[in-house]
Amino acid sequence: MTPIIGVTGCYQVFPSPLFHTVERYYINRSYLDAVKLNGGLPLPIPILDDPEHMETYLDMCDGLLLPGGWDVDPALFGEDPHRKLGVVQPDIDRYEIELLQLAFKKKMPILGICRGEQVINVAKGGTLFQDIHEQSESETLLHQQTYRGSIGIHRITVEEGSLLSEILGSTEARTNSMHHQAVKDCGEGLVVTARTSDGIVEAIESTDRTIIGVQWHPELLIHTQEEMNGLFNYFIHEMAMEYRRGKCST
Ligand code: MN
Repeated sequence: MTPIIGVTGCYQVFPSPLFHTVERYYINRSYLDAVKLNGGLPLPIPILDDPEHMETYLDMCDGLLLPGGWDVDPALFGEDPHRKLGVVQPDIDRYEIELLQLAFKKKMPILGICRGEQVINVAKGGTLFQDIHEQSESETLLHQQTYRGSIGIHRITVEEGSLLSEILGSTEARTNSMHHQAVKDCGEGLVVTARTSDGIVEAIESTDRTIIGVQWHPELLIHTQEEMNGLFNYFIHEMAMEYRRGKCST
């Protein structure tokens, strides 16, 4: 029984010398490799606008992985764009949120990474800092490292008793950091499980333990920090496997 992990992608439009423009939907290899390495079968989910097609994809999945990507449209949490807001793709946000709503109903295990964590929070009615450096009250650390992502740059403190602390086997960790947005207020049923010393939220999870969101990129740390590979291992072998067993028994 190989758990199937649905993975959403990133969207890019760019000029092409051959065509007017090229529209590309892609998934960074590191996410797919992390799923495969830990015994899962990654299933790329394309941009869909029909809920029926979304259901069809989700019915095939035992877990859902939302990867990193562009900024989230602040209109989705009732704000106008801050001047430091980066690239937003409102139609992609809406597609991911619609897919998430269906996955929430199924109580499907979800792992959100970077933007993925933020989209989960917004889908649950939470808010984001559009730019942590401009909008956070505290003086922020460096959260956009300029060195390779396989090396952690800042420390995080993990909430004792959280699912994340159990998976990492510690209330402290060192993580990479490639973001300028972060969770501000948690959405319904979500709690903060890790922060950096400047108070920025670095992880969230649902109180029913079906959703984990991390602000860093564990997929880039799987070969350098064993506990980060453990995060994928737990998601696939415990959470997705349990979901699959539940599906098979009904
Ligand atoms: Mn960070």
